[in-house]
Amino acid sequence: MYDMIIVGGGPAACAAAVYALDKQLRILVIAEDVGGKVGLPRSQNGQQALAWKVGEEAARLFEYASVQHHDLVLRSRVVEVEKLGDHFAVTTQQNDVRTSATVLIATGVTPVSVDVPGARQWLGYGLGYSPTTYARALHDKQVVVIGATQRALRGAAELARTAAQVYVMVPNENVAAPALLAHLRECANVSVLVGYRLAEFVGQQHIERVGIARGDETASLGADAVFADLGLIPHTEMVRHIAALDLEGFIVVNAQHETSVTGLFAAGDCTTTFSEQVTVALGDGTRAAISAYDYLLARAPTHARAHGAE
Ligand SMILES: Cc1cc2nc3c(=O)[nH]c(=O)nc-3n(C[C@H](O)[C@H](O)[C@H](O)COP(=O)(O)OP(=O)(O)OC[C@H]3O[C@@H](n4cnc5c(N)ncnc54)[C@H](O)[C@@H]3O)c2cc1C
Repeated sequence: MYDMIIVGGGPAACAAAVYALDKQLRILVIAEDVGGKVGLPRSQNGQQALAWKVGEEAARLFEYASVQHHDLVLRSRVVEVEKLGDHFAVTTQQNDVRTSATVLIATGVTPVSVDVPGARQWLGYGLGYSPTTYARALHDKQVVVIGATQRALRGAAELARTAAQVYVMVPNENVAAPALLAHLRECANVSVLVGYRLAEFVGQQHIERVGIARGDETASLGADAVFADLGLIPHTEMVRHIAALDLEGFIVVNAQHETSVTGLFAAGDCTTTFSEQVTVALGDGTRAAISAYDYLLARAPTHARAHGAE
């Protein structure tokens, strides 16, 4: 039985693992990959912001630690986490079951992809899912932002500070941040397009234009970059039946990164914490690991007895 099983291999998980190793806890990291989003090929993660490099460094540190500690990482997908009395059983897709006193979920999210033929091939070649990542590289450019989420509108406002032209496409007026949309309408370099859908990407090596449509009406916009923020899908299926999730499926956590289940902690993008950022995930992962360690310390005598330490 482990002290802590960490599910995920991104910045939140790596930070948690580094903390737990420093505390000499018996841990297992179960992840499909090490690095998470910061380990993606450059064509998919785009501009290398400083925060990104900090995340890469955390992943590198963790990989270094995993060479020193035999059997630290199990490369697999977790399909279920069960609470069995005072401990947890974690099941992988190969039906490998591992038990642990605590579990820390740091499984991230997947952005909802654009539903346009060939969208995948343009990823990293003008199409992105994170306007905030690229904003500083789009001075004097023409940019299209698609989506009515708070992140999409915030990203558009960030781009509007320096881009030549920002087109903001929202399906209707029912947006997540009406004040931000009102602000965007006031910006001279922003056009808000309501009710249009993206129809096609046009370009050679890189996106140059996009076709948009509303009913029978069509138009073509010059575009150096297109960002779609149509929402995020959290990877939380494995705890759906035991932990409280919000309406969109994010794991509800408090300031200590405790979930609704005693002994179960969560960190990073898959939680209700504000802002999906590498540096936030690193801090979240550390805080969640500290909380899990506090929990283990409080039950240490019982735990030690259970393992025959007396
Ligand atoms: C295109 C893009 C650009 C971005 N640019 C920036 C930027 O410039 N600056 C910035 O600060 N942030 C940026 N972000 C956000 C940043 O990548 C995330 O906030 C950060 O990676 C979150 O870390 P995480 O550990 O919570 O999740 P992730 O990095 O998503 O890692 C999740 C991990 O969990 C694993 N996993 C998932 N499900 C399971 C399962 N069932 N079993 C086992 N393992 C599982 C995954 O394989 C992965 O290893 C960007 C995000 C995207 C998508």
